[in-house]
Amino acid sequence: MTQTATADPRLGARRPALSPSRASDFKQCPLLYRFRAVDRLPELPTKAQLRGTLVHSVLERLFALPQPDRLPHRAKSLLEPVWTELSAQNPDWAGLFGDEEPADVAEWLGGAEKLLDSYFALEDPRRFDPEACELHVEIELTSGVRLRGYVDRLDVAPTGELRVVDYKTGAAPREIGEAKAMFQMKFYAVVLWRLRGIVPRQLKLMYLTDGQSLAYTPDEPELRRFERTLEAIWEAILRAGKTGDFRPNKSRLCDWCAHQSRCPSFGGTPPDYPGWPEPDPGEETPLDRAD
Ligand code: SF4
Repeated sequence: MTQTATADPRLGARRPALSPSRASDFKQCPLLYRFRAVDRLPELPTKAQLRGTLVHSVLERLFALPQPDRLPHRAKSLLEPVWTELSAQNPDWAGLFGDEEPADVAEWLGGAEKLLDSYFALEDPRRFDPEACELHVEIELTSGVRLRGYVDRLDVAPTGELRVVDYKTGAAPREIGEAKAMFQMKFYAVVLWRLRGIVPRQLKLMYLTDGQSLAYTPDEPELRRFERTLEAIWEAILRAGKTGDFRPNKSRLCDWCAHQSRCPSFGGTPPDYPGWPEPDPGEETPLDRAD
């Protein structure tokens, strides 16, 4: 049930854009943004991240089933086949389990079952049909800043009201990720507001690790201010991009950074700056694929 809501898909596939993940990287630490979006250094996902990816895919498939079939046992029965599919597409991921006993893999899958149990405790997917899952959204603001991302789920009420839903499955403590998650949700709210002319009625975060959810209602003045924040972030990224001056910003979040060994804050040395990836109308740039 993947849909695309793109203002101009011909342009969108090729132009650098700000995604919520990269914008949030830059806010957290400009050097982290550089490593991910400019140097494009590979990061091996953790098993918790893979489990989250798996659960997101299973929930997407679940909503493709007829409503009466959206039951916990059906969702759990999708875990193994979806993992087989994902690991065939990404052989590096399967390699993470190379030395492990089948029992360890089973335990990892058991963790995914717990996330699904939490999901079903939060809502009954037989009671509604989302408009879309894994919805690609993209818009160019009047300032010329292009925003791009994927919404986990978009629900539309009979009244036309929009609800943006995001599943959180990460291992990091919730209080650490909450500001980042809300930033991401407001990003999607701005894109949907500009695409559809309606301010989403609700932004809903579903924390599947602790079975809680958080709902927030944005308003138009707030989204207008947030849009200006996004434009300022993009301007700051372009300024840093010209000079290569992406500074480290040490914080608690460094515990989850895969680049400590090359970070000056941890005694490392970054690789030489490769230069800003210029937009090329005929080729995808690294930034196009940054999210
Ligand atoms: S370790 Fe911390 S300061 Fe260094 S790049 Fe990563 S997030 Fe930034």
